[in-house]
Amino acid sequence: MKHNFGAGPCILPQEVFKEAAEAVLDFNGLSILEVSHRHKDFVAVMDEAIILTKKALNIPNGYSVAFLQGGATLGFTIAALNMMRSSKRAGYINTGTWASGAIKEAKKVGLDVDVFASSEDRNFTYIPTNYKISPDLDYIHFTSNNTIYGTQFQDYPKSELPLVCDMSSDIFSKEINVADFDLIYAGAQKNLGPAGATLYIVKDEILGKSTSPFMPTYLDLKQQIDKESMLNTPPVFSVYVAMLNLRNLIAQGGVKNIEARNNTKSALLYAEIDRNSQFKGAVERADRSKMNITFLLNDETRASMFDAMWKDAGIVGLPGHRSVGGYRASIYNALPIESVQVLVDVMKEFERKS
Ligand SMILES: *Cc1c(COP(=O)(O)O)cnc(C)c1O
Repeated sequence: MKHNFGAGPCILPQEVFKEAAEAVLDFNGLSILEVSHRHKDFVAVMDEAIILTKKALNIPNGYSVAFLQGGATLGFTIAALNMMRSSKRAGYINTGTWASGAIKEAKKVGLDVDVFASSEDRNFTYIPTNYKISPDLDYIHFTSNNTIYGTQFQDYPKSELPLVCDMSSDIFSKEINVADFDLIYAGAQKNLGPAGATLYIVKDEILGKSTSPFMPTYLDLKQQIDKESMLNTPPVFSVYVAMLNLRNLIAQGGVKNIEARNNTKSALLYAEIDRNSQFKGAVERADRSKMNITFLLNDETRASMFDAMWKDAGIVGLPGHRSVGGYRASIYNALPIESVQVLVDVMKEFERKS
């Protein structure tokens, strides 16, 4: 078995892979790949996926859950279209590639975007603080975990304005207070399930209030939620496997337990990065991500030796994103601590050989 540190699509629990494989061959006498999305057996899967999402994240009354398509990338557009109100101005925090993508799409749907905080000046190696939020904005948007750069908001922005978050790469990794948010969206393929489904957690109060003159049916969260994620054919397999993964998560003690394990895993790797004379972390310590750990070699000329060593140890998915370089260890929920230990051991061995 390989140790998969890939940033996404990512590792899921082995038992979930096994159950998913079984359902491809036999889901109540059909394959999960051929079952009608209107069949009661699949409607029950969708219902359970929604119920388990609410349970895992302790979602209060007054919120709805939907599984749509298009990834977080379409989420950028869906969020902007559905949250547009009378001022047609929105505030965004720019903490990297995905946040910048969200800003671009908000502008495309006709919002005037106020980027009131940004860490672009230091190549997105920190989370900005000390910003002022103008009170006339329709909503504010941020990206809770910056998958590419390896930073993560430890505290969420506070304001009276509606709060929207792209949580693609840290949802289900730690406890959150959903009541603080008006809209959360996340591509499934980091922590939740296979690529295909995109999760939306929506405060019911926001539905049907958009002032956008342009609102295609598919992008209207009100219609999607009224139709219980069945406005058109949903990503059946992705939702099915996400449901299996949520069952697995809850059976393991839920998000609270996973969070404790994620803390242990990330502490193990960061301790080695800080201890080892050959490596350094790529971002500000206080803003380090517990999901995507970015680090650099002090001496880049030794990269080929280190690369050969981790590859030999069965590690895959470790190179950093092309815009950052160095290394990125994505340690999503399902990555076992044993895999983190293998990487730490390789780092120690590399230092010994220096
Ligand atoms: C991966 C990722 C995206 C893009 O997701 P797609 O599902 O590929 O559209 C957006 N935001 C964040 C934070 C991500 O990690």
